[in-house]
Amino acid sequence: MKLFYNDDYVAAEYAYDTTRKAKHIRQSLSDDPVDNLEIWDPLHFVEQSLEVIAKIHDEPYVEAIKTGIPKTLAESQGFDWDTGIWTTAVAHSAGLIAATTYALQDKERAGSLSSGLHHARRSSGKGNCTVNGLAVAAHQAISMGAPRVLILDFDAHAGGGTWDIMSHHLPSVVQIDVTCANFDTYQPDGESRLIYSTPQSYREDINHALHHATLLDPFDIVIYNAGMDPLNSGVSLSDITWREHTVSDFIGDTPAIFALAGGYTWGNKTMDEVVSWHRITIDLWANDR
Ligand SMILES: [Zn+2]
Repeated sequence: MKLFYNDDYVAAEYAYDTTRKAKHIRQSLSDDPVDNLEIWDPLHFVEQSLEVIAKIHDEPYVEAIKTGIPKTLAESQGFDWDTGIWTTAVAHSAGLIAATTYALQDKERAGSLSSGLHHARRSSGKGNCTVNGLAVAAHQAISMGAPRVLILDFDAHAGGGTWDIMSHHLPSVVQIDVTCANFDTYQPDGESRLIYSTPQSYREDINHALHHATLLDPFDIVIYNAGMDPLNSGVSLSDITWREHTVSDFIGDTPAIFALAGGYTWGNKTMDEVVSWHRITIDLWANDR
């Protein structure tokens, strides 16, 4: 399986888990490699990343993240602006475009060490998310002639930013979201769903979400936002491990990509723990098929 990363993923000077953890995961994969995993540099997809970002985000917002002006818009995701923030956002999107391209071309699975995505809306950042890489990936899939796109968002927080972009620019995309931290919620329609969960009902709610998806027409690609931050919200490690196996079984042979999404050192967790959580997804996707 191809996994995309380069050091531009951590180019932002602003230090936060989502601007740093990709490099820790990359290092961990060097120290303790995963079978059947190839780490690829998405550098050749940067041009395409710039084009797609310009299509899904409004121009004044894109200019603000590039230039830092106006400051309120440039810092709307909650970071202190620096030039590396744009580099980082473009790189995370390039990795997701690369993963989508190979997944569809080769009918396989791929991933990118991208995070800080799903709260970014058309005209601003939000909740530590600068550019919406999930919308970028969905746009790429549709451009490649794969109109049935499922965004499966199992980050603890809801993907209101993705919904804001999709409902305006990509209405055919289906978004199925399970949230156990009530942030950035939205009112889905059509085939999309937002399911409110708790640590107690987590397995039942994940099953409910996936069952709904199985009743729909087949998808050309699944874009999985594999958030590990339910672990920061009281969901157990055994439930998250179960979730990753269950999602992998659900995806089966459908082309699919994953993004890291949330997973934090909040609450006295260590970066090593966060790395180990994301490695559950990486190990499983590389070796489950
Ligand atoms: Zn989250």
